[in-house]
Amino acid sequence: MPPAIGILALQGAVDLHAIALSRLGLEAVLVRTPAQLDTVDALILPGGESSAMSKLLVINGLLEPLRARLHVGMPALGTCAGMILLATGVLDGRPDQQSFSAIDIDVRRNAFGRQNDSFETDLELAAIGEAPIHAVFIRAPVVERTGPEVEVLATIDDGRPVACRQGGVIVTSFHPELADDLRVHQLFLAGVAA
Ligand code: GLN
Repeated sequence: MPPAIGILALQGAVDLHAIALSRLGLEAVLVRTPAQLDTVDALILPGGESSAMSKLLVINGLLEPLRARLHVGMPALGTCAGMILLATGVLDGRPDQQSFSAIDIDVRRNAFGRQNDSFETDLELAAIGEAPIHAVFIRAPVVERTGPEVEVLATIDDGRPVACRQGGVIVTSFHPELADDLRVHQLFLAGVAA
């Protein structure tokens, strides 16, 4: 049986992650309820708006069940807003915004400022191979602190991390699902299988 991969589907860029998984031969489980969460082995937290997702997690009764799964080691891939939700510390967040401390990083929301709201660049990400990945950043967070267990997978020009891994948890500031490149999803799935 292939692993059951969920996508948190409360808000945000869900569909392109589902398409990426289907191109890898997996049918995604869209997770909106605790019962749906129970059926998955791993979860993708998509881009979108982290403070809105945080509210919807509370409203849908998913906040504590998801926190519990992450704390016992469920693998997770968080892209952009999903990275913010998986982080330990959130700078420039809303005061009531929740995060899961599933990876020992602090992130700053909307870290690239107005001029640079959205941009694209090619990034070296050695864990997925030699060819750079085309990375799309949209009101993206950046990593401001990494704990000792965290592996930095990619950095931008000024040296700040934009992709990190700790155990089965991978986070990216950018949107790998927007590039025609499945290697970040494959890296995540390799961690799920391990
Ligand atoms: N700025 C958004 C947030 O703070 C993230 C943007 C994105 O996911 N593309 O949640």
